[in-house]
Amino acid sequence: MDLLQLDDFDLIRVVEEDHDFHIYAKLSDETTHCEHCGKYGIIGFGRREQIIKDLPRLGKRSSIYVETRRWRCKHCGKTFYENLPHMDEKRRMTDRLVQWIGEQAVRRTYSSVADGVGVTEGTIRLVFAEYVQRKYDAMRFATPRWLGIDEIHLIKPRCVLTNVEKLTAFDILENRNKKTVAERLAWLDHRRSIELVTIDMWRPYRDAVASVLPDATVVVDKFHVVRMLNAACETVRKALRAELTPAERRGLVNDRFLILKRKHRLNGKEHMMLSGWLENYPALAMAYEIKEAGYRIYDAKTRDEADAAFEEWRASVPQEMKGAFGDFERAWRNWREEIIAYFDCRATNAYTESLNNLIRATNRVGRGYSFEALRAKVLLSEGPEKQAAARPAFQKMLSRDLTIERTVHQMRAPTRYGTLLSTLPEILRKSDLDPKQL
Ligand SMILES: [Zn+2]
Repeated sequence: MDLLQLDDFDLIRVVEEDHDFHIYAKLSDETTHCEHCGKYGIIGFGRREQIIKDLPRLGKRSSIYVETRRWRCKHCGKTFYENLPHMDEKRRMTDRLVQWIGEQAVRRTYSSVADGVGVTEGTIRLVFAEYVQRKYDAMRFATPRWLGIDEIHLIKPRCVLTNVEKLTAFDILENRNKKTVAERLAWLDHRRSIELVTIDMWRPYRDAVASVLPDATVVVDKFHVVRMLNAACETVRKALRAELTPAERRGLVNDRFLILKRKHRLNGKEHMMLSGWLENYPALAMAYEIKEAGYRIYDAKTRDEADAAFEEWRASVPQEMKGAFGDFERAWRNWREEIIAYFDCRATNAYTESLNNLIRATNRVGRGYSFEALRAKVLLSEGPEKQAAARPAFQKMLSRDLTIERTVHQMRAPTRYGTLLSTLPEILRKSDLDPKQL
């Protein structure tokens, strides 16, 4: 049996040791033509032995020893080393090993892959980085018309770039700094086609967008604004609970859930329970009504109405509640333009619930994973491949001038939008990265 299984090479002999296979091989066909002028007629001009790492075999490291010949052309006088097919000579690895490392490093630690191959962890890191970059480049996610920039917690807070209309994530950045985000945005294809950018209230996002996408409208996602009202309510509720006796506290089972719920979403029983508490605890009742009034600002039909509604709301907050609702008020002042922009375009991040699920899933992902591996896990997951394999939705022909070639090309390269946000928690849950290995 041919242990080598590599086209264009013949196996000479194999030496097996405790931890290694040493495989001696040579090119099946001798070089006959000059690499420079293409003419026939070359003479030997020396040789060198190269040691190329290959796939581990039977749990042992494998190296291929191959003599590369150097030739000199009789016609042009130039010399050259013959080319070794299937080899990444820069890395001294077979192409199939490079591919294997890429696949393995999504699932295993760099150190365990490095140990199996017999190279350093740093080499694995570099090979993996190049591997995933090639994959990302090949996927070429479409630049969204409507871009979402959010935060996701993968060990640390990261920036996630989303296609809001397609509900997909198409990149995750290592951090949320202005420089990182601006550089990535600058690298998007056709970035001027981005019309809207929804962000959370994180100043570096706003600054990055302003510098790279000056024509895009920036909208602070509604959810990120109104949740500050819930946070204020929580502050009041917790302060109140701290002063209650244990018996009183028991009477307030599920209070958090009910207080954060919108009034019109309460069912009859919930409404009754909440009313009881609000009657007993006037501070809670006050906070609840202020929260509800804050939500109603978003019922405004125009930006002017919203401005007026906010001012009305602000004036209605009594002195003793100013502290708890201070963050909401300050956010509105610091981000007024981006918050108000919502009332022109009604843009929200419809995938907020998916991101919340994702945060819950990633909380279970232990420390010590490399960011690159998690990013690859998310972006190279089955999602995009499945999307690509599926027949794209029927699209009306826009112009009769389209050539056959163009149409065929489009069929071969379906537009990719990224990984569906709703599938991300599952992808990470199924992650076979084992934290104990690290
Ligand atoms: Zn030549």
